[in-house]
Amino acid sequence: MTIQLEDTSKWPVAIEKPFIIAGPCSAESEDQMLKIGHALKSHQNLLFRAGIWKPRTRPNSFEGIGSVGLKWLSSVKKETGLSTTTEVANAYHVEEALKHNVDVLWIGARTTVNPFAVQEIANALKGIDIPIMIKNPINPEVNLWVGAIERFADAGLTKLAAIHRGFFAYNNTKYRNIPQWQLAIELRRRIPGITMICDPSHIAGKRDLIYEVSQKAIDMNYDGLMIETHINPEKALSDNAQQVTPEQLNIILEKLVIRKSKIEDPVFKSSLDQLRIQIDDLDNELVDVLKRRMKVAEKIGVHKKENQVTILQSNRWEELLNTRIQHGVNSGLSEEFMSRVLKAIHQESINRQTRVMNEE
Ligand code: PEP
Ligand code: MN
Repeated sequence: MTIQLEDTSKWPVAIEKPFIIAGPCSAESEDQMLKIGHALKSHQNLLFRAGIWKPRTRPNSFEGIGSVGLKWLSSVKKETGLSTTTEVANAYHVEEALKHNVDVLWIGARTTVNPFAVQEIANALKGIDIPIMIKNPINPEVNLWVGAIERFADAGLTKLAAIHRGFFAYNNTKYRNIPQWQLAIELRRRIPGITMICDPSHIAGKRDLIYEVSQKAIDMNYDGLMIETHINPEKALSDNAQQVTPEQLNIILEKLVIRKSKIEDPVFKSSLDQLRIQIDDLDNELVDVLKRRMKVAEKIGVHKKENQVTILQSNRWEELLNTRIQHGVNSGLSEEFMSRVLKAIHQESINRQTRVMNEE
């Protein structure tokens, strides 16, 4: 289907790059909301966010303050003049948010995965002219993301944006959620002209990493950033490791290099950047896989030690080398390259196992 997209100048906040969405992960009290709102109100192009209903992975943690928080959101709007946004996850949330004149709605990552929930929200919004921002699903499935955007487009909404917040990482990685930038690139290819917002807070998971993720997003020509901002991040009732103070937000924004299109051939530059970002992602994946492989090799070392067998088992190594080289050659990699890579990896495994063997 073709998705009709309305010019972002029609949004309640003019989208001038970079368009900033800031505010707490969760609304906690009227005082907290007003303090943050006042600290942020001098920014141009700023949309104030606060989660009212919090979809938490496990029960018995803070699940949001509920509808009373919408009153606080409207006090922020009244006192500071900032436009507001909150997350909705069902038709009741939509009804409540609209009643309290929230300007923009967003769909959380745990909702985008569920087409029934997305459809329920889209139906509740039929005929209502409100911007809606759709976060990527938790799992790296672009079709779910595209599908959710299509459901809103089908319901007649035209002010649509995508928020890239990264994807669930099964293993420990540098970031809380793996960015997989190439999936956001693919979304843009599938829905040309969609407003793209990056959520470096949920990608990074740690406030110290927010700047580097933000810069990368800006370099990839994103339209905006959603950065969780709290007056007292350490005491926040949710996501306390990743929230920044309004002052830290200013530092991040001042440090951001917004590159002008002074390059001789911007089309070439942008395609080169996108490819390099894919290379960065793949290299990070390679390092993660190698790390996991070495951990397994160490476990094997422990077993060998307990059973008093030698580190090098020639038959196994021979078989491993042959099968992997064959796999590589079948995938278009040269035999010589495969052999060099495998020998280097094998040597490192042997070094690790030797260390394990000789430990007291
Ligand atoms: C949030 O923005 O606070 C949130 C819950 O995000 P996500 O849906 O990306 O996990
Ligand atoms: Mn959060």
